[in-house]
Amino acid sequence: MLTKEFQLINRQWFTDSRQVTGPVTDARSAEAVFFAIQGEHHDGHAFIGDLYRKGIRQFVVERSALTPERQHELATYPDAQFMEVESSLHMLQTLAAEHRRQFRIPIIGITGSNGKTIVKEWLAQLLEGSSSSDGFVVAKSPKSYNSQLGVPLSVHTLTESDTLGIFEAGISKAQEMQALEAVIRPTIGIFTNIGTAHDEGFRTRKQKIAEKLRLFIHANTLIYSVDYTDIDEEVNMLLKAINPDMRLITWSLTGQPATYQGSLQGNRLSLQEKQRDNRLVLSLPFTDPASLENLMHCIVTMLALRAWDTAELQSRLNRLRPVSMRLEQKEGINNCVLIDDSYNNDVVGLQLALRFLNQQRTRSRRVVILSDVLQSGQPEADLYQQVGEIIRAHDVEQFIGVGPVVSQNAHFFAANSQFYATTDEFLTRFLFSDLRDSTVLVKGARPFSFERIVHRLERKVHGTVLEINLDALTHNLNYYRERIARSEDAASRPSDTKLMVMVKAFAYGSGSAEVAQLLQYHRVDYLAVAYADEGVSLRQNGVDLPIMVMNPAPETFATLLEYKLEPELYSLRMLREWGSYIREQSRSVAGESAAGATGYPVHLKIDTGMHRLGFVESEIPTVADYLIHNPALRVATVFSHLVGADDAQFNTFTETQYACFIRNTTVLESALGYRPTRHLLNSAGIVRFPEYKLDMVRLGIGLYGVEAAQIDQAALQPVGTLRTVISQIKTVQAGESVGYSRRGVLDHDARIATLAIGYADGYDRRLGNGIGEVWVNGTRCPTVGNVCMDMTMIDVTAASASEGDEVIIFGPELPITGLAQRIGTIPYEILTGVSERVKRVFFKEGN
Ligand SMILES: *Cc1c(COP(=O)(O)O)cnc(C)c1O
Repeated sequence: MLTKEFQLINRQWFTDSRQVTGPVTDARSAEAVFFAIQGEHHDGHAFIGDLYRKGIRQFVVERSALTPERQHELATYPDAQFMEVESSLHMLQTLAAEHRRQFRIPIIGITGSNGKTIVKEWLAQLLEGSSSSDGFVVAKSPKSYNSQLGVPLSVHTLTESDTLGIFEAGISKAQEMQALEAVIRPTIGIFTNIGTAHDEGFRTRKQKIAEKLRLFIHANTLIYSVDYTDIDEEVNMLLKAINPDMRLITWSLTGQPATYQGSLQGNRLSLQEKQRDNRLVLSLPFTDPASLENLMHCIVTMLALRAWDTAELQSRLNRLRPVSMRLEQKEGINNCVLIDDSYNNDVVGLQLALRFLNQQRTRSRRVVILSDVLQSGQPEADLYQQVGEIIRAHDVEQFIGVGPVVSQNAHFFAANSQFYATTDEFLTRFLFSDLRDSTVLVKGARPFSFERIVHRLERKVHGTVLEINLDALTHNLNYYRERIARSEDAASRPSDTKLMVMVKAFAYGSGSAEVAQLLQYHRVDYLAVAYADEGVSLRQNGVDLPIMVMNPAPETFATLLEYKLEPELYSLRMLREWGSYIREQSRSVAGESAAGATGYPVHLKIDTGMHRLGFVESEIPTVADYLIHNPALRVATVFSHLVGADDAQFNTFTETQYACFIRNTTVLESALGYRPTRHLLNSAGIVRFPEYKLDMVRLGIGLYGVEAAQIDQAALQPVGTLRTVISQIKTVQAGESVGYSRRGVLDHDARIATLAIGYADGYDRRLGNGIGEVWVNGTRCPTVGNVCMDMTMIDVTAASASEGDEVIIFGPELPITGLAQRIGTIPYEILTGVSERVKRVFFKEGN
């Protein structure tokens, strides 16, 4: 066993959701080991077949996942090796701990409630060497990889050329830190702060602090602020007892006794070192409270490392840049999609971004614009050979290198690549009109100011944007998955109820293609749209999940077939029209037809009380008879829709609908001789009637962050933020009026701001005249006067507001539900009402 573990160490590891340590290039697939992990929400073992076909031959698999069917499947991959373990995650942690032990360099371990990632990124910026000054060769966690899985994958990236490691550790439950400590084994610890995040996983605040302190039980130095008195107490009570020789380096900005006492005036920080006559004055690039705290940790760490004098410290601080970890997807010029990742550029980050690029199969051509990779330590030729290989492995059609070093290494890239020595040269010489219909990844290290390239490539429309948080979407998806996996009977296995997601109406306003691609990535079972053309657009954007079309007009039948879209049949007329159409098709292409032995999948809708579309009970025998005589139609699913799943006053009616549904499906099943998938529940139903979940459920609004039953809203995250900008501000005297028809008469002298959003963008006209409120720099401001077609006026007298400032219409600060209530409508209408002219911007944080 141990020798096998050892063999795994120097290989490329990856798992399904995060491929951190190496791309699977053809050249490298022999080196790669896939760790299949059974997660709460999906099972990595499902990827084995795919990966085998891509050339991977080594797999770590979990014993409990080896059902007889799985074993049978694995036996069909003869030349693959499978290592069977109790827990793949545990195996990864053990291996990473082993890997870590080979290094005798300082390792900084960071934990705390907030700021871990920023402190890590800033420290890396501050400590790294550059062409003009000495420094460390730093290995660090990519983005915020700080979980039970993220930490081992991060630590595995340590190589012989590194001279310092910086890793963050995050926990959400008691007992988690021990495993992370063994993997990171920090020599220097930083405890950033303690807040309320994850309080629910712990009995008390003290317990949470105590658990986090476990990261430092073998460290020789710990850095923290005594201004957090609970941290200070626990360090002295607990940690000192376990690790008495540890050096504590503390700081305070409130005059508490500490190793460093600091005070800030303007942006000048003076630091007094205790017991020494040493006083240091530095000017800080950022002074807001959160940045100040993060900077204090960084400065004190630099002092603890004693690597530089004050002048060098200051010059490094001056080069510090804000950390934005957002990977943003934007609409570009010439029908391009931009992926903006101009925050860092190391090999690991590049791989993550390329994965994201490949996930977006929106446009056929993939283009990468990349700066020099500022990652010292590795010999230049090795580094660029690796970068070239990674680019090739991700099917990039066009590579553009910007920077002197990447240009010198042009021979590692495809022949059609282009190179520019500087960002300026690129901006002046590049033929922007050549860039069309492509997905473009823009990724550059800070000094290259790639935001200028993004700015040039971005399609500029008016200042109203709907931001879609893809992480929140994933979070909500997982919430519903977890709910449907719960079984009513605790003793039995989790249920295998399938998931259909409704992406009709432009995915409830959130942008169909992008949302559908994410859902495909997370392997939901089915998608549903209202009309054939919505389905066609998904197919054209690379979505190959089964898609149900709820309103399939006969004129679209050929389209349905061409794009493998599956119709919902809801009336005898539709059933017969579709039946004859399919019969004709199978005759005209006699032999192997779209229909044939397996039949073309259709979905039958039964009207159990909505009285909208669907077969009524009396028609079911006719339907059954028709299907018996038309075996070319295969009934994939049978479903119905609840009229009041969200409201307790309709519980009895819901029960009646369920009973009616079961009666009718039973009749159909016995006529058909097989059992189609049955589904009844929408989002509210999933929460309120889990006992009716049957074989599949249909998730709609919940995915977008609104819990329709209003029972568990706190468990969901808002997905969309609609924001706009202030175009103009003016002072208007009391007694004057604002806007059309003099409706907004002022009773006080007011500062009136005009916003770049109106009813044509989806800002409902009923929100005018003070009914609606928007969020301006932390203050709620009412509307004044009537909402116009493209503009709305608000009263910003109470807010601090300037022209050009951002204004939030709805989002985490202003829930959609509240907005809907104000005008007597439902969140569905607000979401789907955001007009298509409003630009959608998609982003992901961290992982
Ligand atoms: C829209 C729709 C759903 C989803 O409803 P939500 O309330 O958004 O969850 C489910 N089933 C059918 C038939 C629908 O049209």
